[in-house]
Amino acid sequence: MIIYSPTYLKHHLGGHPENKYRLEAIIELLMKKNLKFVEPVKASEEDILRVHSLQHYLNIKKLSEQERSVDADTYLNKNSFEVALLAAGGVIKGIDYKRSFALVRPPGHHATIDKAMGFCLFNNVAVASAYAIEKKIAKRVFILDIDVHHGNGTEQIFYSRNDILYLSLHQHPLFPGTGYIANTGEGIGEGYNINIPMPPGTDDSSYLYAFETIVVPVMKQVKPELVVVSAGYDGHALDPLANFMLTEQTYFKIAKFLKEYGVRVTFVLEGGYNPDALAYSVYSTLSPLFNLDFNEIEIERKPSNETHNIMEKVKNQLSTWWDF
Ligand SMILES: [Zn+2]
Repeated sequence: MIIYSPTYLKHHLGGHPENKYRLEAIIELLMKKNLKFVEPVKASEEDILRVHSLQHYLNIKKLSEQERSVDADTYLNKNSFEVALLAAGGVIKGIDYKRSFALVRPPGHHATIDKAMGFCLFNNVAVASAYAIEKKIAKRVFILDIDVHHGNGTEQIFYSRNDILYLSLHQHPLFPGTGYIANTGEGIGEGYNINIPMPPGTDDSSYLYAFETIVVPVMKQVKPELVVVSAGYDGHALDPLANFMLTEQTYFKIAKFLKEYGVRVTFVLEGGYNPDALAYSVYSTLSPLFNLDFNEIEIERKPSNETHNIMEKVKNQLSTWWDF
């Protein structure tokens, strides 16, 4: 099922990369393919407060009323508070279904317990993951963050939990500068925070090698009942904000793996700032989930030496908790 509301277009600032045209490009393409959408409902204050401080919740409400920005990156208009609640609610709606994609804005994975940053107001993926545990929809949640940026907010929120694993593949160095291999969680959460930093220029071959070398074995040991994907597409070769060289093939193959693995899965839109590349990347993710036409191409798994060496370091760092 695809979750979407036109209300998501009401958070907008012309000239800012995180604008309504991103979602409009996606919806235009999906409507051409005759795909249908389900309307979300807003997350409640209680839902937000499972992962954010009351002060943060009230601050976003106030800044939205005053139409003030948090910082140079992160804007709010008078609709932004309601739209952000609907974005978090869209992901909660998504986890009702065996396979879904929540096409939400604003994005969420940089929002920390008490701070909005990096275009993000509330951490949509975190809100829904905590909801899934609380409402016993899943005993174990696996958050897979494929946005090109590290999801510092999601990492912080779940850093000392072992019922919600956070794993991120991201470009390093890049905003927000977090996401080191050595950051593996704390207390009972040790081993349940996994960072895979990869160099600028990372292509399909190196990325899929990392996915199959680290993500697949860990997921098979965790045996999650729900996978929530922070689906950012700013790792695409045409994206203006980062330097990965990924194509739709990678997004297709990740979604295909999750479909064949058979787990309940919700994809959640994060970044992706070339509207056309974004729209086709979302379509390539939906394709295996809902049996839509797509021209899959074989990708040879020939990682760069640098990627190979990084994966050896990641495996070594994680070997206390996981087998490879
Ligand atoms: Zn991003």
